[in-house]
Amino acid sequence: MTERYCNIAERVQKVREGMAQAALKAGRRVEDITLVGVTKTRTADEVRRLIEAGVDHIGENRIQELLDKRPFLTDLPHTAHMIGHLQRNKAKFLPGCVDMLQSLDSAETLAALEKAYAGAPAPLDVLIEVNIGGEASKSGVAPAGVLPLAEAVCQSPHVRLRGLMAIPPFVEGEKVRGYFAQMHQLFVDIQSKKMDNSTVEVLSMGMSSDYPYAILEGATMIRVGTDLFGPR
Ligand SMILES: *Cc1c(COP(=O)(O)O)cnc(C)c1O
Repeated sequence: MTERYCNIAERVQKVREGMAQAALKAGRRVEDITLVGVTKTRTADEVRRLIEAGVDHIGENRIQELLDKRPFLTDLPHTAHMIGHLQRNKAKFLPGCVDMLQSLDSAETLAALEKAYAGAPAPLDVLIEVNIGGEASKSGVAPAGVLPLAEAVCQSPHVRLRGLMAIPPFVEGEKVRGYFAQMHQLFVDIQSKKMDNSTVEVLSMGMSSDYPYAILEGATMIRVGTDLFGPR
């Protein structure tokens, strides 16, 4: 093992400790929070070390990058998350390669996924991405668009609603908590609808800079890249 790889295991340990501290502060069980290692720009070899260090949920932003690294990881059991914007015409690449799409943001993409998964052995798990800060530069549906899209997912037999995801605006320090709190409220609202064909239990929010705040506000999944691998 090279220095660099030792480093990954140490960094994983640090993030696990950060998660445990935040969970303790929130009065939550750390077991109820899933760590997704974000592997964009990292080599397949680095991703291997991460999985070997116990991070068996892996998130990629671009489907091409996910497909490129996948052949090198087939012997290591892991769950693959697509966390970046998905173009409609790329939906066909997901079956057999992606376990969860965290970035569903339109009825058009949903229709393309429904078609792509029509012959697949299991439905695709999806999170609806919410543009909680109303930022023009970010994808995701507006908060008011969440329920209509959630209902459309529940009417799609080959796609299963699992929860919500967000990337809040970058703001200094604790201010981000307001966005996380809004997301948690939306999550609870959607959960309370008890829609058919859905298991709404995932609230994916929090990255290297802000995951402790996300955990304090109820995140059940965090997506961390920089803190696990170092700067990109
Ligand atoms: C890159 C990325 C992350 C991780 O960001 P870090 O700051 O490196 O932890 C999380 N979520 C999404 C959607 C990303 O694109």
